[in-house]
Amino acid sequence: MSSLTEASYPPTLDDALERDRLVQTIKDWTIANGLAVRPPPAVAGNDAEGTLAMSAPVTLFPSPFPKTCFEDAQDIQPRYNELYARISRDEEFLSSLVQEVAGGDDFIANLWNVHLRVKDEGYVQNLSLGLFRSDYMVHQDGDNLQIKQVEFNTIASSFGGLSAQTTLLHQYLSKTEYPLLKDGIPTSSLDLPANNSAEGLAAGLAAAFHAYGEPALGHPTCIVFLVQDDERNVFDQRHLEYALQASSDSAPIPVFRLPFSQLLTHTTLAPSSSPGGRQLLYRPPHNPFLTFEVAVAYLRAGYGPADYPSPATWEARYQLERSAAIACPSVLTQLAGMKKVQQVLATPDAVASGGQSALRRFVPDDNEPAYAALWKTFTNIYPLDATAAGLEARRLATDPEACKRYVMKPQREGGGNNFYRTAIPQRLGEIPKEHWGSYILMELITPPPVVNTILRNGKLEHGGVICELGIYGTCLWDQATGEVLRNEGAGYLLRTKGDKSEEGGVAAGYGCMDSCRLV
Ligand code: ADP
Ligand code: MG
Ligand code: MG
Repeated sequence: MSSLTEASYPPTLDDALERDRLVQTIKDWTIANGLAVRPPPAVAGNDAEGTLAMSAPVTLFPSPFPKTCFEDAQDIQPRYNELYARISRDEEFLSSLVQEVAGGDDFIANLWNVHLRVKDEGYVQNLSLGLFRSDYMVHQDGDNLQIKQVEFNTIASSFGGLSAQTTLLHQYLSKTEYPLLKDGIPTSSLDLPANNSAEGLAAGLAAAFHAYGEPALGHPTCIVFLVQDDERNVFDQRHLEYALQASSDSAPIPVFRLPFSQLLTHTTLAPSSSPGGRQLLYRPPHNPFLTFEVAVAYLRAGYGPADYPSPATWEARYQLERSAAIACPSVLTQLAGMKKVQQVLATPDAVASGGQSALRRFVPDDNEPAYAALWKTFTNIYPLDATAAGLEARRLATDPEACKRYVMKPQREGGGNNFYRTAIPQRLGEIPKEHWGSYILMELITPPPVVNTILRNGKLEHGGVICELGIYGTCLWDQATGEVLRNEGAGYLLRTKGDKSEEGGVAAGYGCMDSCRLV
């Protein structure tokens, strides 16, 4: 496999003085520009005033990334936005997949129940907002490099705020520091693409806010970020807020951060009989004289079981879903992001549809270029159920040699939930066979080797790395009519991890922030 790393790039920085200068510059820039996170509990315990921040882990240099792959990933994002808007509207399709996984997955079953309860009384908001991120790795097939999708995120797609800052950091270093190294890198030799991830995502939120329209009950409208308690990645979220305020040329948009766990404490629903009905009313705890009508509820929480420790938390999600606030995402859009959906799209269904996948359901024959472009980004993904494809996958997953080419995934988000290679047979042994269908089996993508140096907690880690490209997209659509009011790309994320690590999450402590040097 040929390497993307040239002999001279990125430099190894063997000289301690050179290394220290670059590291110091990065430490200062990251804090000065909010490329930062709150400290972990062990440190935060000594930070009673809550004033500490620390640099987010970053690479010293932007990693080389094939230009054609980067462009392909950006070009296809509007098609992915539209695809997932369509999937979100296909209740019958989602229902059938939920039935397949819910037996072994209470979390998915509970989400579905929230949807059913709201459907029973009728939704009062048809607009739906997606702030999506489609993740890829580069797959090498001979000399041919192409993107293969790792997953598609429909809820709490994070790092758009920090990613824009990481691009700015590397652009800054390319002008000021890299040319001064002994193996000086001329600024002009680095092709560093612009990255509007923070502005792009903020523009999506603003579009939904304006589409919500005038308040019905005499209170001003607002956007609420529903967040986790003790969130460490708060600056990533704040950057979206700041971009939102910087870009709104009309009146500023009131934005509030509300822990998901306190949703029921600080919000109420207007009665169904009020004009429009079931407006979500938010009373900010800092001022009892204020009341806002929530136009957009942006979830940076609620994507995993840990955020629903009690029946009351499920009631909170129900209150949100039945309200008139535009949810980002709705329950159906969250469910569209199930790994099961990705698997079904990528699995040719030879018997039922002449070798075609479920992708055909959403991309009609007369849009062949879209079908072919999307299909090309899929890698092999199998069900683990009792169908013919599932039985073959069960054989692969339990074979001590074959399993080494696969990752097994449950219907979860946020990192740290998957089983890799030889851990797969062991895990399957712990699950009753009738629940194996709650998982999917995916071929591992092995990108060409890249070398870089990661700065994490002040320490350098040099060696082989694996890069994962995420492309953000924003989509606003009408669930009832299918009309798409907005469909835009919104910049990118490059996340890099040591090549000995299976998982790549930055917040989970496995990966780091990076940006692309196009090659
Ligand atoms: P999550 O929704 O928890 O982020 P992912 O499907 O993105 O789950 O998996 C987490 C990580 O595992 C990815 O960021 C990537 O590093 C690794 N991974 C997942 N699927 C693959 C794959 N098919 N090939 C290689 N690595 C993978
Ligand atoms: Mg992921
Ligand atoms: Mg995910």
